[in-house]
Amino acid sequence: MGRRQDLGEARHYIDGQWGQAAGRIEVIDPATEHVVGWASAGTPADVDAAVGAARRALPGWSTVELGERVAVVQRLAKALAERSGELMEVISTEMGSPLWVSERVQVGLPMMVLDAFPEVARAFPFEEELGNSLVVREPVGVVGCITPWNYPLYLAVCKVVPALLAGCTVVLKPSEITPFDATVLAQATESAGLPAGVVNVVHGYGTEVGEALAGHADVDMVSFTGSTSAGRRVAATAAATVKRVALELGGKSATVVLDDADLAKAVAAGASMCFLNSGQTCTALGRLLVPQARLAEAEAVAAAVAERHVVGDPFDPATRVGPVVSARQRATVRGYIDGALAQGARLVVGGADAPDGLDAGYYVRPTVFSSVERGMTIAQEEVFGPVLAILPYGDDDDAVDIANDTIYGLSAAVWSADEERAMAVARRLRSGQVEVNGGRYNPAAPFGGYRQSGTGRELGAHGLAEFLEVKSIQR
Ligand code: NAD
Repeated sequence: MGRRQDLGEARHYIDGQWGQAAGRIEVIDPATEHVVGWASAGTPADVDAAVGAARRALPGWSTVELGERVAVVQRLAKALAERSGELMEVISTEMGSPLWVSERVQVGLPMMVLDAFPEVARAFPFEEELGNSLVVREPVGVVGCITPWNYPLYLAVCKVVPALLAGCTVVLKPSEITPFDATVLAQATESAGLPAGVVNVVHGYGTEVGEALAGHADVDMVSFTGSTSAGRRVAATAAATVKRVALELGGKSATVVLDDADLAKAVAAGASMCFLNSGQTCTALGRLLVPQARLAEAEAVAAAVAERHVVGDPFDPATRVGPVVSARQRATVRGYIDGALAQGARLVVGGADAPDGLDAGYYVRPTVFSSVERGMTIAQEEVFGPVLAILPYGDDDDAVDIANDTIYGLSAAVWSADEERAMAVARRLRSGQVEVNGGRYNPAAPFGGYRQSGTGRELGAHGLAEFLEVKSIQR
């Protein structure tokens, strides 16, 4: 298993054909700072061609029996599983996640989602009787899927697979920073026997290709995962044609450690979920809320966890934290660290300097701040880097109040020795998911955000319903 030196050019895939673009965008390995390939630089004309192909493929695909759509998804799962080693290498090269993260998360999670969806689709109530009505759920139509770079394959699978099961056709616009896994995904749809035009891929910048897709009159729905600022723009662009919009956006999620919890276990879990993938996870638990009386204890545990998170080359088996994705991202994260110091947060471990011995590559030290106040920028804004903010609280009401005090509402965690007490707090948190005492990921449970973390739900029956229109037929 090793780094890819030359990934070539990720090309458009439109109507079953691999295209050639006029321009291309450099893709940089964040661990070496070397160019490892290019993404085709798409234009609105490419979007137009892809949307046309998806529109032409829609009547055929939307009338294929559910059993055959499920069979295609199962063949897709098999085709991707056969290429899982290659996918791990590609993703670790293009965005720098350590191999263990690529194995368990970048490739492991999409495989879990692919395995879970056939059962969800078979059990889904596509039709129901309601008095004198027959309520039928039909594919929404042509779907534009726009995805980010942090979990590139997983986030594409979370959209493309339910869209296909619903009977929709797709134009996928992957992040220009991580374009290569979409090539493998498109090739796997070919091996799975998907007809030409059902899944199309157009590469390029968000402001050109993404906006052309969101604004296209012949796209029925846009499903977007990315930053809250780009999500606002997508929603505004899509509004002109009143299309359905599903947004999966940023977060500033909190671990709430109640005073009866096993603090060492809770803090270790929370800090690890903050540092995972160099903090570049939408559900990163970037805030750690601990009882005031146990602040020092929490700091010691968090510092030890940060020190155990060895930073280094993604392809070195000893590495737990790779680089952040780009020089720009590193500058942003360093800016947050400097800003926290300037606003009076107390640095426990880490800092803005490069880790020792890592002169090339966009590396950032796992960093912990304590005595963070709720109004500080580091407690309010998504850092998207390995930076943990510890905030002390008074009682449970205070903890809930602080946890809910951001514009976001994506995820949270609660720890207590008393599960009922943890559940009561979980119900009061304004977020789309809450993990109680380390509750594990469920690929069939709905995933999405409250407030400015988004408007949609992915995964499971809710994630399938997103791609369906509802029609009532009265008799
Ligand atoms: P980003 O918003 O910069 O880009 C995401 C995608 O949108 C890319 O494909 C990009 O090219 C495109 N894009 C950018 N501007 C656009 C525009 N004006 N119109 C249309 N498309 C546009 O985000 P990113 O830096 O790639 O990803 C990180 C962000 O994604 C973080 O905020 C993270 O929290 C969020 N995220 C959310 C979830 C979730 O499920 N809620 C999951 C992963 C990441």
